[in-house]
Amino acid sequence: MLPVIALVGRPNVGKSTLFNRLTKTRDALVADMPGVTRDRKYGEGKAGDKAYIVVDTGGITGDEHGLDYEMARQSLQAIEEADAVFFIVDGRAGIHPADELIANYLRKAEKKVFLVVNKTDGLDPDVAISDFFAVGFGHPLAIAAAHNRGVTSLVEHTLADC
Ligand code: GDP
Ligand code: MG
Repeated sequence: MLPVIALVGRPNVGKSTLFNRLTKTRDALVADMPGVTRDRKYGEGKAGDKAYIVVDTGGITGDEHGLDYEMARQSLQAIEEADAVFFIVDGRAGIHPADELIANYLRKAEKKVFLVVNKTDGLDPDVAISDFFAVGFGHPLAIAAAHNRGVTSLVEHTLADC
């Protein structure tokens, strides 16, 4: 069984962009419009000789009804199925109320969680992560998915721990 990594976070933080990097495809729909990925989407990735499954999700907004409710339900199922969770936040936006809500879900899920601070391109990574220690998942990991920065070391770090 390959390890399963779920990408979880509020809409528009860059989950699908990271999914595409990790699976080296353009399969996940990336758009400026928040919430376009409505279903879980699975892909296979490889780091060195280690393969893994990655699951993209639609995101959790904290205002769950209608489509948002369905997206949140899918995200929670993805968390259940996962060996590890990449909890993705936006390094440019700071901590958002929906991030706090997701953090509470993840604490209850008792999964291995890696707090991933995306969109750190053009930022000092140490400064970008500093706000996010308060989320409570240890040392945040800075990446810029759109620029493929930090992605390889993120995965290597994760798989070493799986
Ligand atoms: P999702 O809703 O979490 O799946 O987010 P998407 O992957 O669809 O990305 C949302 C927006 O953030 C898109 O406009 C992406 O191009 C942008 N984005 C994703 N990763 C980065 C990044 O590393 N840096 C910057 N500046 N923008 C990014
Ligand atoms: Mg998406």
